[in-house]
Amino acid sequence: MSLEEYKGVFIFAQQVDNELSGIALELLGKAKDLANDLDEKKVTAVLLGEKVGNLVDTLAEYGADRVIVVDDPALKDYRTEPYTHALSSVIKEFKPEILLVGATAIGRDLGPRVSSRVHTGLTADCTQLDIGDFPLNAVEGQEQKHKQLLMTRPAFGGNTIATIACPDFRPQMATVRPGVMQKITPVKGAKAEVVEFNPGFEENSCYTKILEIVKAVSEVEDIQEAKILVSGGRGVGSPENFKILEDLAKVLHGTVSCSRAVVDSGWKPKDLQVGQTGKTVRPKVYFAIGISGAIQHVAGMEESDLIIAINKDENAPIFDVADYGVVGDLNKIVPALTKKIEEALAAKG
Ligand SMILES: Cc1cc2nc3c(=O)[nH]c(=O)nc-3n(C[C@H](O)[C@H](O)[C@H](O)COP(=O)(O)OP(=O)(O)OC[C@H]3O[C@@H](n4cnc5c(N)ncnc54)[C@H](O)[C@@H]3O)c2cc1C
Repeated sequence: MSLEEYKGVFIFAQQVDNELSGIALELLGKAKDLANDLDEKKVTAVLLGEKVGNLVDTLAEYGADRVIVVDDPALKDYRTEPYTHALSSVIKEFKPEILLVGATAIGRDLGPRVSSRVHTGLTADCTQLDIGDFPLNAVEGQEQKHKQLLMTRPAFGGNTIATIACPDFRPQMATVRPGVMQKITPVKGAKAEVVEFNPGFEENSCYTKILEIVKAVSEVEDIQEAKILVSGGRGVGSPENFKILEDLAKVLHGTVSCSRAVVDSGWKPKDLQVGQTGKTVRPKVYFAIGISGAIQHVAGMEESDLIIAINKDENAPIFDVADYGVVGDLNKIVPALTKKIEEALAAKG
């Protein structure tokens, strides 16, 4: 493999039912930064699906300079085999230096298959990506390679973080946790170069047939989309007592989320869990109420714009990441805060 032949930063632009997934736009934001650090001019999005050409302009507005479109009926709904064939064919033809895929259910299935087919490595579930030297610190007798993709992810149950590189193979592939990278502000009217590419598909015995798609009906709000999150931990004490958090969320037009202890106790569904094994969130305001601030929880919320912690233990680690902290009993503080906000809003009319 001649590494020099591989150029440019590519992202897999996931779409479902002809709608781009948020992660595609987040990856474009990160790809722009990486491309700048590599002195690359172009960021390329790879769009697979059937009749998906209408999504190209959105990708351009969020930073794609070029969109490679593979449009084929075989790609209408996600299936491992045709998507793997399409994405690995794109890699073989266009030879990217870096390929980013969202760590969604689709990306976690697709990424490893593709990396294996094109014979390269993949770092799963990354929370940070940089361009730098590898090994990070020069080791005597070992060549230090420059401008490598440094892929960082939690390891050993979140007790440490590992930075991984793929210096000898290309592309350097990573799946990236949704909610971690930031979209750029869209540039209205931006246009991308469109390259149509079709590697050809042959239905064969490896192809699964989709007989029916049954969509999960969730009555739970998407906490990754919320601007204000009122998050409760074990300290809330009972599922019934979450009512005081719901009251606060209501006056703020926010959404309730929680720690893993709450999910493990069966008080709230897993969809509301913030953290390493839950969701990564980045709201404008994050209330951490009765949450101790374990590393695995903090990993999912530390990028919030403003963090307000309420905890009766003044030494709780959550205060290390909080912008504002209130030490005291949440049963007194939360209703009082809700009342004050209600009064302030009423006074404002
Ligand atoms: C591999 C792995 C993955 C994990 N992933 C996640 C994850 O994704 N998300 C996650 O959240 N955790 C995760 N955890 C669990 C994590 O380590 C903690 O156990 C968990 O976050 C603790 O939840 P908590 O803060 O609600 O409970 P606790 O740690 O029990 O904290 C409760 C807090 O409430 C405070 N409190 C109690 N009563 C009151 C009161 N009346 N008023 C005010 N404060 C009060 C206490 O002082 C305490 O700080 C993971 C663990 C492992 C090993």
